Amino acid sequence: MAKIGTNPVTGGSQQQEMIVGIDLGTTNSLVAIIHPALRQPVTLREFNSSALVPSVVHFTEESTVIVGDNARELLITHPRQTIYSAKRLMGKSYNDLREKAEYFSYRIHDDNAESLVKVQVGSRFYSPIELSGYILRDLKARAEHILKTPVSKAVITVPAYFNDAQRQATRDAGKLAGLDVLRIINEPTAASLAYGLGLKPDEDKTIAVYDLGGGTFDISILKISKGIFEVLATNGDTYLGGDDLDRAIMEHWAWLHEISPEALGSNKGLAQAFRLKAEEAKKQLSVTDYYDARLHNYELQLTREQLQELIRPLVEKTMESCRKALADAGLTVRDIDTVIMVGGSTRVPMVKETVAAFFGKPVNDSLNPDEVVALGAAIQADILAGNNKDFLLLDVTPLSLGIETMGGLMDVLIPRNSKIPCSIARSYTTQKDGQTGMKIAVYQGERDLVKDNRKLAEFNLTGIPAMPAGLAKVQISFLLNADGILVVKAAELRSGVEQSIEVKPQYGLSGEEVEQMLVASITHAKEDIQTRSLVEAQTEAQQLLDVTATFLEKNVEMISEEEQQRTREAMNGLQDIIGSGNRDAIHEKIAYLNDVSRPFAERLMDKALKAAMAGKKI
Ligand code: ADP
Ligand code: MG
Repeated sequence: MAKIGTNPVTGGSQQQEMIVGIDLGTTNSLVAIIHPALRQPVTLREFNSSALVPSVVHFTEESTVIVGDNARELLITHPRQTIYSAKRLMGKSYNDLREKAEYFSYRIHDDNAESLVKVQVGSRFYSPIELSGYILRDLKARAEHILKTPVSKAVITVPAYFNDAQRQATRDAGKLAGLDVLRIINEPTAASLAYGLGLKPDEDKTIAVYDLGGGTFDISILKISKGIFEVLATNGDTYLGGDDLDRAIMEHWAWLHEISPEALGSNKGLAQAFRLKAEEAKKQLSVTDYYDARLHNYELQLTREQLQELIRPLVEKTMESCRKALADAGLTVRDIDTVIMVGGSTRVPMVKETVAAFFGKPVNDSLNPDEVVALGAAIQADILAGNNKDFLLLDVTPLSLGIETMGGLMDVLIPRNSKIPCSIARSYTTQKDGQTGMKIAVYQGERDLVKDNRKLAEFNLTGIPAMPAGLAKVQISFLLNADGILVVKAAELRSGVEQSIEVKPQYGLSGEEVEQMLVASITHAKEDIQTRSLVEAQTEAQQLLDVTATFLEKNVEMISEEEQQRTREAMNGLQDIIGSGNRDAIHEKIAYLNDVSRPFAERLMDKALKAAMAGKKI
């Protein structure tokens, strides 16, 4: 993979501002672009240095901010002012982190356990958004320095399991850094793009992305179909990564040299020196069989075999996650067409071998595993910039989204193939007098009855003030955002009560299932239409019966015996036929009941209206 040095990049960059791709990692972050002349994704790096910028932020006494390698060097000597792994804090409350508190050697503010965390440095507080913002600002400045041109637009990657709040936090961090974040994309999607997957419109593939970074492990199962990436399943461990491999080596040496954990714990300088040597050994053993070094008067040796024994349990743990992810996706290893290696720790030969053996095929590791996500982000950025004309970015929802209405009917709010993002709102009302709650069940699919579709979520809108049926006005809105998250909100407009829920419609759904659902909707189209019209007739009949019954009850003294008698007969007639499945007969009886009740209904309405008018002085 070509890299750019300190020379300014020339070529098409004058006409159009470049959009950069950013991998904002837990351990390391970096920027990549499509080289305008080479038309190849390249990572940005200064002459003679790595493209990787450690995701570490240090605050000096004067609150000056240092980011990257220089900040990383201060981790041990200034633990309280040096913040690492800020990404883990994104969108989290102190409660979320309580169990892992000892992992962080800086101060996490815990005054309000429920609200979003802040990090305390001296007398100042920083939100994870601000911390990530500092990293992004540094990356932006680096990129501008290397490219010799302003950079203000970016695509940023996030883990596939990030929720909407965490994605929004990442966008906000970009904004703080002066970046217009055009899109947030999933890290495994970016890695796939870097390997050229998903760039052909007729491609159909199932991909496993194995990402072992510095402190986290993620396995994602993706389905690519017609340029659309779907996350079928994710699994992993947010506290397992290269750092744990380093620790295993360090503990092994400490044990060999009879240094107790307490001794190491109380001598931070020694511990840090050991840790650095351990990481060095690990990296070297990715290429050689033997490591030998000296630290003070300790002889530090390690063979590749020894390393393998030390880390085997950790690697085994990641394979357990792979098994679970496959099971969640409803797939077996044979269904996986391609395996992609991501994250610096996949350079360890044993990791590659274990993953290849598990999936029963060679893994894709030709690109630098710690750069591949940024390279993919750059490809996505280039597509957004409109430079990649061969590739039409298809961001559509593959199946319709809607809610259940009376009689179990599917009411579609967002039809399939709608462009994402999109939003829509529709009003509904209560069926019964005094109804104070409403069940909102969200479905995905093309069939007319919800029972034939896929249920995504259900919630109750409660606290609707009691009022006659049909008076409450419940607005249901669907917002499907660019990251594929559907936010369903229900609000009763008169009282202001509202409730919302978030779902990932594509989560756990394979391309094959989508296809099956579409095929089923076509094969059943005719019977579905018949069912729908029958259910609609039944629903109308039931409503009419309910309304008439209440009406009779309330106004019993205003309606003549004879009228009551005839109405009851008409009601019974309708009641008898409602379950018959004969739509036309139902319509007939509805019409008859309406005819019978109309005269006295009108009479009473008139009276009610007159009374109402009399009460108001106009
Ligand atoms: P993240 O995605 O979490 O930001 P990276 O993908 O940059 O992290 O991975 C960082 C990890 O990769 C570190 O633990 C580092 O020690 C490890 N690593 C980097 N190079 C090698 C190598 N050659 N062999 C083994 N591990 C490596
Ligand atoms: Mg990463």
